[in-house]
Amino acid sequence: MAAATFSRLLKPGFCKITLIERPQAKALGATEATIPAFQRFNNLLGIGETAFLQATDATFKLGIRFDDWTRPREGYFNAFCPFGGPIGGVPFHHYWLRLRECGDETSIFDYSLAAVAAALGRFARPSSDASSILSLHSHAYHFDGDLYANLLKDYACARGVVALDRSVADASLSGENGFIETLMLDDGGSLAADFYIDCSGFPGVLLEGVLKTGYEDWSHWLPCDRAISQMHPHREPLRPYGTATALSAGWRWSAPLCRGMDSGLIYSRAFLSDGDAAAALSMDSRADFRATSFVTGRPRKFWNKNCLSLPGGFLEPLESTHIHLIQTGILKLFGTFPDLSFNAADADEYNRLTGIEYERIRDFLILHYATAGRDDTPFWRHCANMPIPGALKHKIELFRGSARLNMLDNEHFADHSWLSVLIGHGILPRSYDPLADVPSTEEVERHLHGIRRAIRQAAEAMPPAGEHMETAARVTS
Ligand SMILES: Cc1cc2nc3c(=O)[nH]c(=O)nc-3n(C[C@H](O)[C@H](O)[C@H](O)COP(=O)(O)OP(=O)(O)OC[C@H]3O[C@@H](n4cnc5c(N)ncnc54)[C@H](O)[C@@H]3O)c2cc1C
Repeated sequence: MAAATFSRLLKPGFCKITLIERPQAKALGATEATIPAFQRFNNLLGIGETAFLQATDATFKLGIRFDDWTRPREGYFNAFCPFGGPIGGVPFHHYWLRLRECGDETSIFDYSLAAVAAALGRFARPSSDASSILSLHSHAYHFDGDLYANLLKDYACARGVVALDRSVADASLSGENGFIETLMLDDGGSLAADFYIDCSGFPGVLLEGVLKTGYEDWSHWLPCDRAISQMHPHREPLRPYGTATALSAGWRWSAPLCRGMDSGLIYSRAFLSDGDAAAALSMDSRADFRATSFVTGRPRKFWNKNCLSLPGGFLEPLESTHIHLIQTGILKLFGTFPDLSFNAADADEYNRLTGIEYERIRDFLILHYATAGRDDTPFWRHCANMPIPGALKHKIELFRGSARLNMLDNEHFADHSWLSVLIGHGILPRSYDPLADVPSTEEVERHLHGIRRAIRQAAEAMPPAGEHMETAARVTS
């Protein structure tokens, strides 16, 4: 992603880019789930949607369905869509809470076009016409990470990037300022550059292995540290969403590609053995599967001396944010691009902005574990009782009291995502905004039920999700 973007945005001759990648490397996650902002990345590169879908075996994604996080057979969506719409400047959910107090048990998820369409297995691309109900939602993708890496590598090489199938074995540091001077490659060769972007994944060959930057471990808040996954044939019609199903010591994901369903388990080894995890996934031992370990957290510095790590830390894939952090990291680097004097303030600013971004996403992930409300296993009792960051605690308390959401600077997840998890986990505020009492109950009922009907009709008119993939296949065949 970095090499492709730099090859696109920097003029030929401004700098020379070399991509060093271990031969026959396999990306960590076979299937990558994304959020809608990912489209902006492909747009920036000029990669059209149909070409992208075809090259990466991708499917459309309207959000994630969370099952069993509160109790068995109970679920909710975090869908790419706001709930209803504000009335008189008061956020929609306050009116929903008002009608609830009057005995109306309509689920808030019935007011989300993306959630209703996903539940019906239907999909339509969002409309750019602001007067259309189809302008309410957004979409993202599930795609094959290895295929996307190949696409971007070809793209970058066609624009002058030199790709070397080598492994970085070590690096030498300047005695003067500790900057990286030269990389030593596994074939005995070496390579020197002014600036290094470490994209070697967790834990970072250059940032950690060579520069010993240090890592802040967040596993006391996000205890999962292990993943296993496997691809299965589709057993049901293609659906436009992924699932995250809570299990005894973690959660199971399923993410559809065109060729099959990728499913896997994210769990904590302190609470579940690898053998029990494989059994929980009904792992087919004959099939190829991937296993990996990780420590959730962030490096003390994302950019240290003349080396920047993308994305730097590791946040588990519960809300599909890793690719996004790579994307925003690249854009932030453009905003703080160094000259050869390497002004330390540029790196400091990059580190400050990225640190905030990580903390905001981290807190949203912790919300899922801390408020799930399950107490049926040691893992869930640990999550229910663990101390949580102050900013998150305040956000939950504010919502519990007055249904208000304080959206902080650089908050990555919109208020509807926070609402989805809070309400999905059964947290119902003690009161709502008094200004939601301004219109009469009849007016509110008429308005909300009108929205619900329009959403249902629009969702039912959408074609089944699988039809879109067939159409995309026909366009390019
Ligand atoms: C189970 C699982 C599921 C995930 N799902 C998602 C998801 O749905 N959405 C999402 O956004 N994120 C997800 N993630 C996060 C995921 O790690 C990333 O999205 C993605 O794989 C990261 O890509 P990357 O290129 O940064 O790192 P990696 O995929 O780890 O790639 C690192 C590359 O560097 C190469 N390399 C390493 N060391 C050297 C060396 N010394 N010399 C040369 N090359 C080297 C490797 O061979 C590899 O090609 C998931 C993570 C896991 C564990």
